[in-house]
Amino acid sequence: MTALADQVSSGDRRALARAITLVESTREDHRAEARELLDALLPHTGGAVRIGLSGAPGAGKSTLIESIGLHAVESGHQVAVLAVDPSSTRSGGSVLGDKTRMSELGRRDEAFIRPSPSGGTLGGVARRTREALLVCEAAGFDVVMVETVGVGQSEVAVADLVDLFVLIAAPGGGDELQGIKRGIMELADLVVVNKADGDLLPAARRAAADLRNALHLMRPKRPDWEVAVLLASALEGDGVPEVWAALTDGLDRLRAAGALDALRADQAVAWMWSEVREEAVARALADPRVADRLDALQAEVRDGRRAPTSAAAELLGDP
Ligand code: GDP
Repeated sequence: MTALADQVSSGDRRALARAITLVESTREDHRAEARELLDALLPHTGGAVRIGLSGAPGAGKSTLIESIGLHAVESGHQVAVLAVDPSSTRSGGSVLGDKTRMSELGRRDEAFIRPSPSGGTLGGVARRTREALLVCEAAGFDVVMVETVGVGQSEVAVADLVDLFVLIAAPGGGDELQGIKRGIMELADLVVVNKADGDLLPAARRAAADLRNALHLMRPKRPDWEVAVLLASALEGDGVPEVWAALTDGLDRLRAAGALDALRADQAVAWMWSEVREEAVARALADPRVADRLDALQAEVRDGRRAPTSAAAELLGDP
């Protein structure tokens, strides 16, 4: 694993792809190797701007991420894009994975695009994304963008593993915002109203005004931080440099205030605990006695014959 770690940190792309495949694997022996690899890579991590981006399907996430990525590449950065797609865990299909995505960015030597791994729980997918992010950092990428579909809990998981979280909105046919949940707005450090072009421009302006009003009514996520609402057109490229500038400014401010290190330290500890929780559940379920009782206990809890607390205790092996 140290050999692979050396290859990854020397910038070897094939080693990078192999390392990510390894951290995505759920096989027990692979997990052990992945842990060893991540320990070896850890000293080389931490050098990227970590950006999470979310928005409803169709808001233009891939298009915008590609333009932001190309802009960053033109500015001399090395950009990795990772995707978290909870739909691929549930149905085997994927909202994010089945499109031809970001082909122009993907052709650039300075960029690396990794579609979402499928299978497993959201916690598992988030873990693999987090590990893939560290591998990309060790490989020298100084911008890592993590894309997620704004349809559920995945953005909370992504917000927990990035420095800055961007909500991508788009005007609907009229002036309505397409399905933005309050919970997602509360996570945002920056909001971008995409598709601010052509016939959609007036609606985009109204959407931005509505979003600013809504944001004013919410409790601020960070002290002294006003969430900016920017207009952009991923297709035309308008506003993309401003989005990039807002992101780098935001990061500079976090760094200057010492908040970035504190944030990442908290995230690392939270990650450890989520690993413990995932692993504890996995180990409990791996016990054949638990497996035998699982269906019966669930039925008892469902029918109200057994209190959830007492069923949980039995599953955990309490006498
Ligand atoms: P995602 O599902 O959020 O990743 O959205 P996509 O990036 O796949 O874009 C969905 C649709 O919106 C596609 O047909 C894009 O061409 C279109 N689109 C994306 N960005 C823009 C934009 O800036 N302006 C306009 N007019 N259309 C856009």
